[in-house]
Amino acid sequence: MTDADEEIAALREPLVAWYRANRRPLPWRSSSDPYAIWVSEVMAQQTRIEVVVPRWERWLHRFPTVDALAGASLDDVLEEWAGLGYYARARNLHAAAREVAASYGGRVPDEPEAVRALPGVGRYTAGAILSFAFGRRAPILDGNVTRLLARLFRVDGDAKRGATRETLWSLAGRFVADGEPGEVNQALMELGALVCTPRNPACPECPLARSCAARRAGDPTRYPAPSRRAKVTAVEQVAVALRRRGKVLLARRPPRGLWGGLLELPTGEPRAGEALDEAARRVAGERTGLVPVAARPSLRFTHVLSHRRVTFHGFVADAPAGRVRLAGYDAHRWARPDEAAALGVSRATARLMAAVANSH
Ligand code: SF4
Repeated sequence: MTDADEEIAALREPLVAWYRANRRPLPWRSSSDPYAIWVSEVMAQQTRIEVVVPRWERWLHRFPTVDALAGASLDDVLEEWAGLGYYARARNLHAAAREVAASYGGRVPDEPEAVRALPGVGRYTAGAILSFAFGRRAPILDGNVTRLLARLFRVDGDAKRGATRETLWSLAGRFVADGEPGEVNQALMELGALVCTPRNPACPECPLARSCAARRAGDPTRYPAPSRRAKVTAVEQVAVALRRRGKVLLARRPPRGLWGGLLELPTGEPRAGEALDEAARRVAGERTGLVPVAARPSLRFTHVLSHRRVTFHGFVADAPAGRVRLAGYDAHRWARPDEAAALGVSRATARLMAAVANSH
């Protein structure tokens, strides 16, 4: 046993004792169903826990098993995911369920390589499934655990990349070398979420405070070091709500890429020097075959993605008579503005549709 192993062995007991006394009663914690645990982890990745709890319950009611999810259409899956954002998570979950149904008879595999090979299952999600559901000694490293470990051991460097990341994974692995790995992992996550918080860690309440290197050094919030930010580019888009008999035309994006498989208002980029209402008419024509006589502005807002800052210029127009001929979309439907949010639309489209509904 190395010094680090011994140090971690001494931390495990107070960590788990703290967890047993302080854990939140999240519904999936009482489940041993790997599928239910998997869904909770995927949902919780970029969504607040208070939002996840009711949505997880609703999801399991609608798709109670891997086979039920595998047998559902992608439309139904995206519709159930509506409002949770980052729709690639839902698409991957659906694709992975189909793979589990086809290759493993609907039972989530418990072999690390098989779990990792499923669509959308990265090292973190695999660790969660393997340790929580199967009691495997698989580490996890989410944002909360990263922060906690970086502080406990004063790990310098960019915690999201390279050698620093590997150091953190290795520390996380040492925590699950003994004890009940699912519980140890949950304890690390919970301590990071509730006590070792990003801005104001509650060090006096921390069961590991006496061993914490960052606390001894006097400024825990220096760890982990902030990541280098990717350059953000600004993009302009016009989006057109084409109305016909009280309904609005929504078009489905191709399955891959940003907002893949989601419905949106026909959208495109204005050309340099082009008036925005002209751009809206042109985009509507190019993408749907319907060129409105006029388009009037409805809502303008900026949507910030990880690498892009997209300014949407929303327009409303009466759709001319004629058939829809799509370009760059897979399908279309006419929907009432107030029902769009429940259909699996991008967040930007949900906002624009709400504005259209209000203007009625
Ligand atoms: S002592 Fe403070 S900084 Fe260190 S792990 Fe505990 S809460 Fe985090």
